[in-house]
Amino acid sequence: MSSTSFLCQRCNKPLKISQELWAMQRRSLEAQHHASPSPKMPVSGKLQARTSRRQHPDRGRTSQESACCTFTLLGEPSTQRTLDSIQNTILETFEIVSGQKDVEHPLCVDCMDGLLEELDAQLTLVEADNQKYKSFVERESLVSEEEREALHVELRAELQSLEQEEARLAQELKDMDQQHARIEAELKAAEAESRELEQQEEQHWKDYAALTMEQLELTDELSSLENRLAHAQGQLQYLSKTDILNITFTILDDGPLGIINNFRLGRLPRIQVEWKEINAAWGQTAFLLFTLSKIAGLQFQRYQLVPRGDHSYIKSLTDDGMLLLFSDGSHNVFYDNKFDRGMKAFLDCLQQLVKVLEKEEGIFLPYRIHVKGGMLEDATGSGECYSIRTHLNTEEEWAKALKFMLTNLKLILAWASSRYYCKT
Ligand SMILES: [Zn+2]
Repeated sequence: MSSTSFLCQRCNKPLKISQELWAMQRRSLEAQHHASPSPKMPVSGKLQARTSRRQHPDRGRTSQESACCTFTLLGEPSTQRTLDSIQNTILETFEIVSGQKDVEHPLCVDCMDGLLEELDAQLTLVEADNQKYKSFVERESLVSEEEREALHVELRAELQSLEQEEARLAQELKDMDQQHARIEAELKAAEAESRELEQQEEQHWKDYAALTMEQLELTDELSSLENRLAHAQGQLQYLSKTDILNITFTILDDGPLGIINNFRLGRLPRIQVEWKEINAAWGQTAFLLFTLSKIAGLQFQRYQLVPRGDHSYIKSLTDDGMLLLFSDGSHNVFYDNKFDRGMKAFLDCLQQLVKVLEKEEGIFLPYRIHVKGGMLEDATGSGECYSIRTHLNTEEEWAKALKFMLTNLKLILAWASSRYYCKT
């Protein structure tokens, strides 16, 4: 018997039963067998119930419980309770209540404490309910018929009021639902608007970035234009102060030969200047007289100057002939060659300009021009005249006449330069 083990009915912990308990159980069972049956519950019925329970161990009990059939189970109601099991439970409960049987639970100490606390709590609740029921019964017995009727009327009025309140609250709930739906729709609309605004904002920032980039490019362009304008203004200021005539034409007359723009005009027996250089010098001289006539606003009579480098010439307006201002050195064979006539015509043109300047500007030149004879006179000096023609002339006198002519042109150039400078 001592080798039989028990388990706690709740936590399945193994339980060790002392020998004294075994002896007590055995004596209890023997006493039950010899005791007289209860007047309300015959022993045969009890034994029959227990025998029946042994024959059906699966009915609400485990195998361990079946092996120790004298324990009473608590807190595990069977879902398949039969009349037999109910009868057994009632029988055992009756035995416990009547003191014929001790309550024996195979429970550990912890589970027992928990079970007791649980039963205490249930007992407390039951007692409270009992007190309530008792107070209700007492009050009901004290209330008269009139008072009960009045209470019913009052309760019905209160019920009606509560129903109205319920209807009002239901309506309010319905209104709240409608309002909620409306607010939800407004929220969706606001969210859509918000998304649209976000897209607009994004587009705005893109436009802003593009405009900023354009502004930077335009600022760069403006800065570049301002720099170019400042440079152009500097150039303009420099050029406005520049004497274009003096830069373009340089005349030297302090040597044996007159020189214009580094080209010698004339030749001497000891200074044999190439005719190409003389022709180039004549071209520069013709261009100078042409420019001076434009500055003075003079239109030449009888002739038209055509400056064309070392092949410049003068066009006669009377007979439409070409009078040359260049030669190859073979011109002096004939008396009235085109080179000599060209130089005479040039003197004529120069004299027309000198007359204008003498008349309008009061300029007087040191060398007087005699157009008819093609001569230049040293009016302020020796008074000698030198021919500009080559025919029947010496190279010295020809060179001197050309030099006098260049000196006159140099003075006119100085006047024109000052006038041109003052105009700008
Ligand atoms: Zn336990």
